[in-house]
Amino acid sequence: MTNSPESMGIYIHFPFCRKKCSYCDFYSLPITAPGVLNQYTDCLERELTLRTSECDLPLASSYLGGGTPSLLPPQDIERVIAAINRDYPPSGEREVTIEVNPATVDRQKLADLQRAGVNRLSIGVQSFVDRELTILGRVHDSRQGHQCIDWAQQAGFTNVNLDLIYGIPGQRRSDWLATLTRAMDCGPQHISAYLLQLEPDVPLAREIATGQQAMLTDDQEADLYYEGRALLLSRGYQHYELSNFAHPGFQCRHNLTYWRGGRYLGVGVGAVSFDGRQRHLNSPPLEDYMAALLNGTPPPRQLLETLTAEQERAEAFIIGLRLTQGIDREEYCSRFGADALGPFQDAVNRLAAQGLLVVDDRRIALSPRAYFISNVVFREFVD
Ligand code: SF4
Repeated sequence: MTNSPESMGIYIHFPFCRKKCSYCDFYSLPITAPGVLNQYTDCLERELTLRTSECDLPLASSYLGGGTPSLLPPQDIERVIAAINRDYPPSGEREVTIEVNPATVDRQKLADLQRAGVNRLSIGVQSFVDRELTILGRVHDSRQGHQCIDWAQQAGFTNVNLDLIYGIPGQRRSDWLATLTRAMDCGPQHISAYLLQLEPDVPLAREIATGQQAMLTDDQEADLYYEGRALLLSRGYQHYELSNFAHPGFQCRHNLTYWRGGRYLGVGVGAVSFDGRQRHLNSPPLEDYMAALLNGTPPPRQLLETLTAEQERAEAFIIGLRLTQGIDREEYCSRFGADALGPFQDAVNRLAAQGLLVVDDRRIALSPRAYFISNVVFREFVD
């Protein structure tokens, strides 16, 4: 893994979606006016230029997420990537990812993205069971998911992630394992498997509250997690983060920046930046963000939090545990000037005695039986 806090990432948020999925509480908007995508791209270019001074480390990755950034025409995506390369000159090979919704691309568009400089795709397949895609309110079906992967490979992409969701209402063990098997049969280098988690005000949560759908039990969800993990491991994927699996050398560099406590620049409305101590949000609404940049001024920003030294240590400890290799004690010590155990010694001893943490001279890591209940462990390290 080449990422370290000595490099940074840029996250570009694209807030538009064709239709809101039933489980989504991200900041995403319908496209209401023709030309808005082009104007939004203008704003991204301007913001990138305005913020160069905030990036004083080599840029290891850029990530176009959303929303549905694959709704942008390839020439707009090319403009954004060109602006990053112009204002943040590459010092080495850079990972450039775009999230792709299978319903928004065709063979030509994926080939154009390759030419534009995208070298990694994250395809939001979510499931290969159409009934589940309907429950999730996705705008594509399983056939389009397959087709998108085929086109990506034909276009020459050799670094492809598939996003999958488990714990969907009514999902049977056989459905989940079939989705995973079909996903692996497509040969992606990376698979993300996320548990469906619902905020109370999303449509699917309301369907559950009114009895139209039923969530799986915690035990059923845990079984899906561990059976899915075993299947992925049996096919040569390495489990490197709680929800992420990759062939050797294909871990997501951009996300590793987050998980290793690194800094990142968030560009676009709704994007969050982290400078190592403070988190800032590019505040919605979209209209204010665009009006500011089209007038040549910085967009409105909101300070979300300032970490104290203790919070910084605790946060690095917790997100470090998300990686299956755990916390590198030497690296942690050189960053904070103290051993990772420090104030956490009692909690670590207790959790190790329960078989939830594995501790040796070099590392502190979750044990596999703690992976699905990681939040229970993390709570021990928060005031
Ligand atoms: S495509 Fe993604 S961001 Fe858009 S509504 Fe669906 S889950 Fe939300």
